[in-house]
Amino acid sequence: AAAEPIVGGQGRPGFVRVRGAREHNLKDVSLDIPRDALVVFTGVSGSGKSSLAFGTLYAEAQRRYLESVSPYARRLFHQMPVPEVDEIDGLPPAVALQQQRGSPTTRSSVGSVSTLSNSLRMLYSRAGDYPAGQALLYAESFSPNTPEGACPECSGLGRVYEVTEQSLVPDDSLTIRERAVAAWPPAWHGQNLRDILVTMGYDVDTPWRDLPKKDRDWILYTDETPTVPVYAGLTPEQTRAALKREDTPSYQGTFTGARRYVLQTFANTESASMKKRVARYMVSTECPLCRGKRLRQEALSVTFAGADIADISRMPLARLHAMLQPYAGGKAQGGKTASDKRRAKLHPEQMIVTQRIAEDLVARLDVLLALGLGYLALERSTPTLSPGELQRLRLATQVRSNLFGVVYVLDEPSAGLHPADTEALLVALDQLKASGNSLFVVEHALDVIRRADWIVDVGPAAGERGGEVLYSGPPEGLKKIEASQTRRYLFDDAPPAVRARRESNGWLRLEGVTRNNLDNLSVEFPLGVLTAVTGVSGSGKSSLVSQVLVDLVATELGQGAPAPELDEADDLEQEAAIPTQGRIVTGMESLRRMVRVDQKPIGRTPRSNLATYTGLFDQVRKLFAATKMARARRYDAGRFSFNVAKGRCETCAGEGSVMVELLFLPSVYAPCPTCEGARYNAKTLEVTYKDRNIAEVLGMTVDAAAEFFAGEPLVERSLEVLREVGLGYLRLGQPATELSGGEAQRIKLATELQRAGRGNTLYILDEPTTGLHPSDADRLVNQLERLVDAGNTVVVVEHTMRVVAACDWVIDIGPGAGDEGGTVVAAGTPEAVARAKHSRTAAYLRACLA
Ligand code: ADP
Ligand code: ADP
Ligand code: ZN
Ligand code: ZN
Repeated sequence: AAAEPIVGGQGRPGFVRVRGAREHNLKDVSLDIPRDALVVFTGVSGSGKSSLAFGTLYAEAQRRYLESVSPYARRLFHQMPVPEVDEIDGLPPAVALQQQRGSPTTRSSVGSVSTLSNSLRMLYSRAGDYPAGQALLYAESFSPNTPEGACPECSGLGRVYEVTEQSLVPDDSLTIRERAVAAWPPAWHGQNLRDILVTMGYDVDTPWRDLPKKDRDWILYTDETPTVPVYAGLTPEQTRAALKREDTPSYQGTFTGARRYVLQTFANTESASMKKRVARYMVSTECPLCRGKRLRQEALSVTFAGADIADISRMPLARLHAMLQPYAGGKAQGGKTASDKRRAKLHPEQMIVTQRIAEDLVARLDVLLALGLGYLALERSTPTLSPGELQRLRLATQVRSNLFGVVYVLDEPSAGLHPADTEALLVALDQLKASGNSLFVVEHALDVIRRADWIVDVGPAAGERGGEVLYSGPPEGLKKIEASQTRRYLFDDAPPAVRARRESNGWLRLEGVTRNNLDNLSVEFPLGVLTAVTGVSGSGKSSLVSQVLVDLVATELGQGAPAPELDEADDLEQEAAIPTQGRIVTGMESLRRMVRVDQKPIGRTPRSNLATYTGLFDQVRKLFAATKMARARRYDAGRFSFNVAKGRCETCAGEGSVMVELLFLPSVYAPCPTCEGARYNAKTLEVTYKDRNIAEVLGMTVDAAAEFFAGEPLVERSLEVLREVGLGYLRLGQPATELSGGEAQRIKLATELQRAGRGNTLYILDEPTTGLHPSDADRLVNQLERLVDAGNTVVVVEHTMRVVAACDWVIDIGPGAGDEGGTVVAAGTPEAVARAKHSRTAAYLRACLA
C-alpha cells in the first residue's frame, strides 16, 4: 500500500489543489477539488474532461507512485506521459478504471478479472467432494492455466487443433505449382518447398487430386525433413538433367511437411498475423478428453454441490450466487443434499472452510449482481464484454477490496447502463466513498451528474475552444454559469419538443432468431425511420442488433459475414464462432447497403487521420498537384501523400514519428528526427498552395481549413459536414490514435453524410451516445434524422431516454437480463412504449415525453 500523501502547506485541507494544468487543450487551469467526495467532471466531448481527470490527476498520481517502486516493477505498468502541470498538492494514490478505447490486449475472463475464480479453486481444493481414495488437490490444480491443472490432451485450451487434407488443400483441382497446398508459407519459402519436391521427383504439374495417395500423404503429413540440392528456376526436366550431371545447385533446401509447418508455426510463432494465417488451415474440435472443460480428469472428478468447477464457471453469476447462498449461512449447516449433511458430521473443519469461502464469494457476487452483471458467467472472456461491462466488473472488484484513502478515477461508468441499472451503480460508488475514498468521475448521464457532491464543468466548447474550467463547486452553483452547456440540461426540466413521428415505408421482418439469450424470436424493424432498441443491460439488444441483424443482412446483401470484433491474436483462441440462426422473411428488397457506425478507431496507426479517412485529403492533394511549381517539377497528387515513397520523409516513412519498442511496455511513438513530424521530404515541402505547404495544411483545424479552402467546392463540402458534426476543432492530420471513440464515430458519420443522397442504406449504431455530452447527443440525433430524411433506415441501441424519445419507433427487449430477457416486451412509438405494462423502460421514457 502507498504511504499517506503529504498535503501541501498552502492547500485547503481535504482538497486536491491543481495549479497550471496544460495537458492537451487545457488552458493553464487551476482549481481545488474536494477529497472523500463524488466529483463529476462534465463538459461537451473534446472539452478536456479526460485531459484533466486522467491526463493530469491520474497521470500525476501514477507518476508519484511509480517513483516509489523499483525500476523493475515500474516496467510492468502502462505508464502515462508525465502531465503538463505546474503543481498538484493533496493528491491521494489513484486507481483508474478507464474504459478501453481500443480493444483490450490481455486475455482474461470474468472469473480472473474479478478474482472469483481464485476463491472457487480454493473452495474446490479445500472443501470439494473428492472421489473415495483421491488425494486432496492444490488450488492450482483447478486452473487450466497451470501445468498442474491443464488437460494434457489440449494443454488447457479445451479444443484440439488438427489438419486434414481438405483444410491444407482447399482446392484439389490445382497442381502443386499452382499452390494446391494453400497452407504452405507464402512467397519464396513456398516456392522453395515446391522446388525441393521437384528435386525429389514429385510431380508438381498434375492436379492434386490425381496424385497417388502415397505421395499426397507424404507431402502433407511426413515428419521427415530431408535436405536436398535445389536448382531454382529450372523445369523438372532440366532439374533431372542437372542432378544427373551433378551440377552445383543454387542452394540446399530442407523440406517440411505441411502439417508440421502449420502446427509448429501455430505453436511457436510470435507474430499474430502468422498465427492467424496458419490457423485458417486447421480445424478445431472439442477436446475429446476433457470435453472442452480444459482441466485434468482428477480436477474434474472433484465436485461441489454436485457440479464440477467447469460447470460452475459456465453458470450465470446469479445462479452461482443462489447456489452458494445456503453454504454462507451463519449456522455452518451447509447445503441441503445428503452428502452435505454427511460431511457436516464427519468434517466440521471442512464446513467452516466452506462457510468462510462461500460467505466471501456471496458478498462479492452481491456487488456484481447489484451492478447488473448477474447474467455473465465466470468463463466469459473479457474481449467479448462491452467496455461498460468490463469497467463495472473491475469496479465491483474494487468495492470489495477494502482499500481506503484512494481516489478512483472513472470514465463514464454509466456507459451501457439502462437507467434502471444506473441506480445500482450509484450505490456502488457510494460504498466506495463511504469506505473513505474519493471518486473522480467523467460522466454525461444526467442521473449521475445530479448525484455529484461537486461538479467540475469544462468548456465552453471542444478542442482549442475548450480547455477552461467554467465551474468547480457544488451542483447548485452551476445554475449561474451562462457559458456552460451542462447547465442547460441539468436544470432545464422541460422535456425536448416532440416532433411528428415518421411512418415506416415497409418492414424488415426476422424470424426464428436464435443467438445467446434470443430463442426463436420474431421481430420487425420498420424501414425508412429512426428506431431505438432499448432494454436493461444483458437483455439481448446487442445480440439482436449488432450480431443477428448485422449477420443476416450482410449475408443477404452478399457482403459476407462481417469480420469478428476481436483483435487478431484473440479470435484464434475463441471458441468456434457461435452461428446466428434465423432468417429475414420480408424487407430486403428495399435495402442496398448496410453500414455500422461504431466508436472503433478509424485506424490503428498514426498513418490514418481525419483527412485520409474522409477522402478529403485526395482533393487537397489534387490542389497541390495543380500548382505551378508542382506542374513544373512534374509532381502528381501521389507526391503529396505521406504513404507514397516519392514525397514522404524516408526516415519515418511518412509517419512523422518513429516507433520505439520498449521492453515490457507498449511501444511508444517519438517525433521523427529528420522531418520533425512534418512527414514529407524537403523537396515536397517547397511546394505551396496559397503560401502553405502540405504539412502546414495537415496542421490546420477543420475550421481554419474551411476558411483557407473557401471557393474549392469539393474540399469545402467535406469540411462543412465535419463542422456540422461538431468536429471543427480537430486538426486535419490528427492521427487516428489520438481520437476518442466519440470523435471516431462522428468522423464515420460525416463520411456517410457526404454520400447520404444514395438512400436505401441500413445504418446500425450500438450505443452511439457513449462519451457524448447531452448537447452532442442532440446533435447526433439531428444527423441521424438527416440520414433518415435522405431515404435511409437507422437502428440504434440506446439507453439515453432523451434520444429514445426522439426516435420514430422503439423496440424494447427484456424484460430482464440473460435468461430473463431475450423477448420483445413492447414495440411502437415512444408514446406507446411509454405506456407498456411490463417494460422497465416505460417509466423512464415517460419522464422524457411531454
Ligand atoms: P473530453 O474528455 O472532454 O472528451 P479530452 O480531454 O479527451 O476531452 O480531449 C480534449 C482535447 O485534447 C481534444 O481536442 C482532443 O482531441 C485532444 N486530445 C485528446 N487526447 C490527445 C492526445 N493523446 N494527444 C493530443 N491531443 C489529444
Ligand atoms: P445487451 O446488449 O442488451 O446488454 P447482450 O446482447 O450483450 O445484451 O447480452 C444478452 C445475453 O447474451 C447475455 O446473457 C450475455 O451474457 C450473452 N452474450 C452476449 N454476447 C455473448 C458472447 N459473445 N458470448 C457469450 N454470451 C454472450
Ligand atoms: Zn482437453
Ligand atoms: Zn520523418
